[in-house]
Amino acid sequence: MDNCIFCKIINKEIPAKIEYEDDEILGFYDISPQAPVHLVFIPKKHIESIATATEEDFQIIGRLLFQIANTAKKLGLDQSGYRIVNNMGKDGGQTVFHLHFHLLGKRSLLWPPG
Ligand code: AMP
Ligand code: ZN
Repeated sequence: MDNCIFCKIINKEIPAKIEYEDDEILGFYDISPQAPVHLVFIPKKHIESIATATEEDFQIIGRLLFQIANTAKKLGLDQSGYRIVNNMGKDGGQTVFHLHFHLLGKRSLLWPPG
């Protein structure tokens, strides 16, 4: 998708520190980390948000969550805990309109969020 910053990361037009990659998924470090560990996981298919995902996308979204958990374990977050976040739309605080899940860890996170 033209002008999508995450598609540019997938196509290696913009650099990112990649932690996980396979045919369908990319996990990379957030440029503006909100926790000592802050990664962003995306499908390589351009999907605007969780709200526009179709039934056929939910298999990849399931794999995305599974690989987030695997990566969290690899990074040693599974004992202390972590948070997976999806921001959707204006009120959800979504700023990049390519579906993504944040993985946040290595600090105690507040609830409810602001
Ligand atoms: P959201 O606000 O949920 O849409 O999250 C978008 C996230 O993408 C933010 O946490 C940004 O810091 C992050 N981000 C934006 N541009 C880049 C980039 N070039 N590399 C890594 N992360 C980015
Ligand atoms: Zn995109």
